[in-house]
Amino acid sequence: MVNEVSMLKPTTTNPAINPVLTEALTASVNSKTTSLLALLKSASRELSHITFANSFGAEDMVLSDIILKNKLAIEIFSLDTGRLPTETYDLIALVESHYQTKLNVYFPKNGTVEFYVKNNGINAFYESIELRKSCCFMRKVEPLQRALAGKNAWITGMRAAQATTRASLPTREFDDANQLEKFNPLSDWTEQEVWAYIRMHDVPYNKLHEQFYPSIGCAPCTRAIAMGEDVRAGRWWWEDPLNKECGLHVKN
Ligand code: SF4
Repeated sequence: MVNEVSMLKPTTTNPAINPVLTEALTASVNSKTTSLLALLKSASRELSHITFANSFGAEDMVLSDIILKNKLAIEIFSLDTGRLPTETYDLIALVESHYQTKLNVYFPKNGTVEFYVKNNGINAFYESIELRKSCCFMRKVEPLQRALAGKNAWITGMRAAQATTRASLPTREFDDANQLEKFNPLSDWTEQEVWAYIRMHDVPYNKLHEQFYPSIGCAPCTRAIAMGEDVRAGRWWWEDPLNKECGLHVKN
């Protein structure tokens, strides 16, 4: 039988996801992994009911690998917006079989989606920022609020270098909007370090990354980027970069 992860070995010339594993890079990743694991262990000792929002991006696969392999007392959940790319669903199935786990998946409320589509159209998010944000709210933010209910802290895979909106991202902060602690343990990781970890540990990943999709969200709101473009340039590419967040990580 062919090993499922070996099937995902580099098949692309995309240099961003195939970093040269130099001694310095490997040492940096190992050092940051040790610090990250210590942070997660300390957080799970300090706070009960911690949950990790896994969106199956490269960063989230690093965190999933560390949490699951070390059997940390941290729940993992995901949001299925109903508009995810096929490749993301393939990865969800692969993660479940690779780690022998079952994922907690939250969906939007069907009545809200039906009302929105009937009144605005199936792809109304292209028409205005308001309609885009209300789509993100019903498909992501409201399910996130249900997933975070009763939790004391949540963990994200955000990195400071991902976007101008994330430039001053702390490792730990208080999430005013959701009223709980929030950890961003990959805040100081580079994209190169994320991919070095994935290669060093044979972590499964979304095959869209091989087609120049560094940041993957819903299918209609994500495109591939060109060499040299910002890693989040493919998300809601028709909007101003200063306002490009889906509402999952906004402050009050
Ligand atoms: S990313 Fe696009 S399709 Fe997904 S919830 Fe937001 S607006 Fe809707």
